[in-house]
Amino acid sequence: TLSLGILGGGQLAQMLALDAIPLGVRVVALEPDPQAGARLCAEHLQAPYTDPQGLARLAECDAVTLEFENVPVEALEYLEGRVPVRPGAGLLAHSKHRAREKEALRAAGAGTADFAVIESESDLDGALARVGGQGILKTSELGYDGKGQRRVRSEAELRAAWDDLGRVPCVLEGLVPFVREVSLGVARTAQGELAFGPLVENVHRSGILRTSVYAGADQKAAAQARELARRVAEAWGLEGLMTLEFFELPNGELLVNEVAPRVHNSGHLTQDGGGISQFGAQVRAVLGLPLSDWKPLHAVAMVNWVGVEDETAQPDWDAIDALPGTHIHLYHKAWRSGRKLGHVNLTAPDAETLRARLEQLEALIP
Ligand code: ATP
Ligand code: MG
Ligand code: MG
Repeated sequence: TLSLGILGGGQLAQMLALDAIPLGVRVVALEPDPQAGARLCAEHLQAPYTDPQGLARLAECDAVTLEFENVPVEALEYLEGRVPVRPGAGLLAHSKHRAREKEALRAAGAGTADFAVIESESDLDGALARVGGQGILKTSELGYDGKGQRRVRSEAELRAAWDDLGRVPCVLEGLVPFVREVSLGVARTAQGELAFGPLVENVHRSGILRTSVYAGADQKAAAQARELARRVAEAWGLEGLMTLEFFELPNGELLVNEVAPRVHNSGHLTQDGGGISQFGAQVRAVLGLPLSDWKPLHAVAMVNWVGVEDETAQPDWDAIDALPGTHIHLYHKAWRSGRKLGHVNLTAPDAETLRARLEQLEALIP
């Protein structure tokens, strides 16, 4: 049997393991949290990511991958040379740091929002004007789900926001007047073969993904997204799978917002789209198993269940179950406001039915 090591044991590792098992692959997850979901379907090494015994166990696997970008460098240094780590340290260095990421995207020939790197007080001078007068200040490291970001409309707001974020290294992005947000996964084998996921349309609420939709068609945007993903995957030497988030401009041009070096929340709908899922694709790409594009075979959408302020406001599970085409996926996590706790995938025979049912489903999830 093949074995796959994962740095991290949260919901992404849980879902990777669930798709690895039928491929004959055993999963070993290194994860400090004793409650994390992957323990239910993987060998759980409950230890810090830098634990020598945990890392030694991962090094015995056929390959190692990760479910989040902030892997300690010590862990990667230990693993590299002992076991294939996919994606590797070079790619992760780009994707975990927003300023370096934007520079590396542009070097690869992909457009991004206008940006200014903010590392000291003097970098603030004139920065907002250079990105168009309105922007979003983001910490360069450790942000997710909209955390570590402040919208700014004036120099004074920019200075206040930088103080508020702790004067850590940041990037100031110009506000992009996007017409919609889309994302696309790309996988690349160690031999350089490429495969792509579907182009998915995403809607965020308070900086957190709320819904993703794949309704087929949209060939032009999908072709453009695949071309940009190919450039970045090749320039960055991707091995394994990564996901690009895009802003679509009014003229149809796609800018890359950011890159996740892994499966992505917007790709969860591939679990129930009838084709292989993004999780199966990552397992295949990382272990060198046969790989192809992982587009769904029919219309499919996803709604996230995120903890809301009022803990008693639960999704109406019975009604969700009764809606045709729903598939519930829970993460075995304790409730916390703003935390992703699960998602519901929704399939339909056509795009129109999907949109109608999606409205019903959304009403059932606070
Ligand atoms: P995650 O990693 O969970 O996707 P994040 O914390 O890394 O989120 P971003 O993807 O940078 O955050 O931003 C979250 C959302 O905020 C974007 O999907 C988009 O809706 C909005 N946003 C971010 N940057 C910009 C921008 N420059 N212009 C307009 N909207 C933006
Ligand atoms: Mg992000
Ligand atoms: Mg994002």
